[in-house]
Amino acid sequence: MAATKTVRRVWALDAPELTVDCGILLLGSGGVQETIPSPTFLIEHDEGLLVFDSGLATTGAGDPAAAYGEMAAAFRIEFPEEYRLDRQVEAIGYTTRDVRRVVLSHMHFDHTGGLDLFPHAQGFIGAGELRYAKMPSNLDAAFFREEDIAAAQKIVWNEVPAGYDHDLFGDGSVTLLSLHGHTPGTLGLKLRMPDESTLVLTSDAAHKRDSVDLTIGMPFDVDRPNKNNSLQKIKLLATQPGTTVWISHDPSDWSELRAAGSEITSAATLRGTTEAVPA
Ligand SMILES: [Zn+2]
Repeated sequence: MAATKTVRRVWALDAPELTVDCGILLLGSGGVQETIPSPTFLIEHDEGLLVFDSGLATTGAGDPAAAYGEMAAAFRIEFPEEYRLDRQVEAIGYTTRDVRRVVLSHMHFDHTGGLDLFPHAQGFIGAGELRYAKMPSNLDAAFFREEDIAAAQKIVWNEVPAGYDHDLFGDGSVTLLSLHGHTPGTLGLKLRMPDESTLVLTSDAAHKRDSVDLTIGMPFDVDRPNKNNSLQKIKLLATQPGTTVWISHDPSDWSELRAAGSEITSAATLRGTTEAVPA
């Protein structure tokens, strides 16, 4: 029997930043400005490369207003030229053509900017998310970018139903987590790292550590009950031995979990713990 296929390497690529009032991240807070990353994760699996989310548009690198107009100032976007997604993939030794799969957490603009780089890829998205992006509620309509919706339409998507977690390669190494509520189809990603530790990337199912610890949503969640269920699901996942939860927009997670650089080798050592990793 062939050896089980697995994740080989994981990178949290250098991320553009947005600065927002903390009340946008956590209901009941506010009055403090917070600078948050807009990440893309690159994963090398035996079956090929995949990206989880795609950050901001390459046309905005060095000049965010060129891609985002007034939003660039409203979100105080910081996007150095060298953070372009295509350049970072090349710096690692691949091209964007080598990325075979795109997993998109949801269709908000800070996750969809690089979709135009992957028209050839096989796409995975939460059920109903694309349809919602084309006809959003007033609540979060400002967070969808026309160019990204057009780029998304060039990708052949596979929809992950709400309430179903999908084992991407059938080997247990990469699981798409249904975490809907922030948007109709929000997805997270669970990775079994090469050392058997587990890394859970929440995307925008949570924005801060307190979101998970205290089950608190944010003002633009379209479905509060399901958002809260998803927060509780993340909290449960965090109780599994050897598991680290990474809240993608949380600046403290970003600095702590990337302390050793953009390549993430083991979830077990990220927070300085060595507990409970299976032998
Ligand atoms: Zn976001």
